[in-house]
Amino acid sequence: MSLGEAGQESAQEAGQESGVLRFDRRLGSMKVEPKPEEESDRNFPRNLHNAAELFTSIGHVDSARRLHATTSALLALLGTNPDGAAQHLLGRAAVCWACGHAGLPRNADKCHETAAEPRPVCAHCGEEEQTNFVRLTMAAADGGQQVVPWIEVRPKAAADHAADPPSNSDQRTRRNKHEP
Ligand SMILES: [Zn+2]
Repeated sequence: MSLGEAGQESAQEAGQESGVLRFDRRLGSMKVEPKPEEESDRNFPRNLHNAAELFTSIGHVDSARRLHATTSALLALLGTNPDGAAQHLLGRAAVCWACGHAGLPRNADKCHETAAEPRPVCAHCGEEEQTNFVRLTMAAADGGQQVVPWIEVRPKAAADHAADPPSNSDQRTRRNKHEP
């Protein structure tokens, strides 16, 4: 339906053609840290790719979409070689099993760098129990794996227009002309 539109490429990139979410293989390197009681659970999703498969297999479409959106945003941001400047937030991420959100927890400033407590609070829905920390590993220059912080764009009130395509102002001008 939208073939030929500028959004085609990005839609494919996001894996949303035919309405089927396709998750980036790199989600496999986003490790879910089990709580002590989950260590021996063989069904425990070990990484966010497993989490995506879990949401999909149990029909939690909204959670799958949210996980897809939040991890896609991270991968897109990492692709820009962010310098962790003032407009970025860095830290230890968490995944929420209630809503599928992955990202910095609401209580990020209280969370420890490595300890399991205090538990991360989902930044999207406020869930406190059904969350796990996520450890991000990326291929290092020496071929090994290095742990890197999760990174997000610092939310700001006027950020809504930042993602607008350049043609938007043209459309707005045109629309204004039609107004009485
Ligand atoms: Zn949540």
